[in-house]
Amino acid sequence: MLYGFGGFDKYYLLVLIAFAISMWASHNVQKSFIKYSKVPNDRGISGAEAARILIQRNNLNVSVDRAQGGMLGDHYDPRTRTVRLSPDVYDGRSVAALSVASHEVGHAIQHAHGYKPLEFRTAFFPIASFASQTWTFIFLLGLLFGRGSGAYTIFTIAIMMFAAGLLFQLITLPVEFDASRRALAQMGDQGLLGTHEIGGARAVLKSAAMTYVAAALMGIANLLRLLAIRGRRD
Ligand SMILES: [Zn+2]
Repeated sequence: MLYGFGGFDKYYLLVLIAFAISMWASHNVQKSFIKYSKVPNDRGISGAEAARILIQRNNLNVSVDRAQGGMLGDHYDPRTRTVRLSPDVYDGRSVAALSVASHEVGHAIQHAHGYKPLEFRTAFFPIASFASQTWTFIFLLGLLFGRGSGAYTIFTIAIMMFAAGLLFQLITLPVEFDASRRALAQMGDQGLLGTHEIGGARAVLKSAAMTYVAAALMGIANLLRLLAIRGRRD
């Protein structure tokens, strides 16, 4: 994020709008999660049990572990083939816990089926992670340089690194939507959720996907702003 450089302009406004959307999205995720974590699922199974059932039914060689940390600590680790669930999801017997656990198994199924966007995302992660951590320093270096072709080159390198991080966020979108689509199909087909519970599961997964959309929007707005700053310094 970059605020306060070059005064208030239309790109700054764009970043603020994107920021407001992302705040709204994360508020919605918490709201749906809290709402459906109070709704017990009909079969009374925990997130961890649901994950193990789906792993077994899909013949996957994947383990289920309890993750450290908060509500968004849930993830699938392709390197160790592990579904990690936060305590609320691991032990929870709600519609929300079941949905999140099934979503993470959705990633494990993607991995087992060689789903290309996931493979690309995993391979690209180290580069994107380095680039997202480093671009700010290089950009600040460009600001110190002031104007001229030297500064322009430094800004360009920083912007390309920022764009690498943004590309990672964009690849994340199809990966996340597909994992949720698989989770909903699995929960229905394997009889984990009744038909009247699917609506709640869809609401939880849809709002979780919205945070990724919001993050990507923020990234696009920031990229435009960085390009504008570089342009003004040329
Ligand atoms: Zn996911």
